[in-house]
Amino acid sequence: MTNAPPRLRVLFDEATIQRRVHELADAIAKAEPKDLLVVAVLKGSFMFAADLIRALHRAGLSPQVEFIHLSSYRAATVSSGRVEILRDVESDVRGRDVLLIDDILESGRTLVFAKDLLMARGARRVLTAVLLEKPGKRAVTIDADFVGFVCPDVFVVGYGMDVGHSYRQLPFVGVVTTDDEPDLFEAAS
Ligand code: 5GP
Ligand code: MG
Repeated sequence: MTNAPPRLRVLFDEATIQRRVHELADAIAKAEPKDLLVVAVLKGSFMFAADLIRALHRAGLSPQVEFIHLSSYRAATVSSGRVEILRDVESDVRGRDVLLIDDILESGRTLVFAKDLLMARGARRVLTAVLLEKPGKRAVTIDADFVGFVCPDVFVVGYGMDVGHSYRQLPFVGVVTTDDEPDLFEAAS
């Protein structure tokens, strides 16, 4: 045990994330979505979605934007296996191409739940984009159409993602640690 304050190790830095977001936007534009509705899964994807949506604009797309607030983790860091809708989308998705944006694809339950919901409501096509994918963790079968980075099997924070409501403001993705490694970054909180 140590009483050292929490520190952060940077996994994906700001410039690397921004470069990748623009590559993803170009790839999404190549899929030629029609009548595109972006649905960002709150809360964790808000920063990724904000950057990706602006990159989609620069890639020549004019998406409408919606949010769905889903919860499977609550305040814990272990998935409960259940997905709840805390706030639903307001737009009609019938006949539209939807781009579902989430922060992390882990068990796949969140993304499968959201994709099935939107397909059942009559979306023409549901594409999925995630910032991070943790391989080997899937409990249900789903692959995201667009993946930012493959993520090691560690609990990450920052760039919208939290632990206990903290760290969402960070412009990079990092790992909270109490180790004394040389490349550690002082936690801002
Ligand atoms: P899944 O339903 O695929 O198991 O879980 C995906 C959701 O779990 C993500 O949208 C995210 O909210 C949460 N999650 C999974 N891994 C992490 C992690 O390492 N850090 C944080 N902050 N959230 C995670
Ligand atoms: Mg989430």
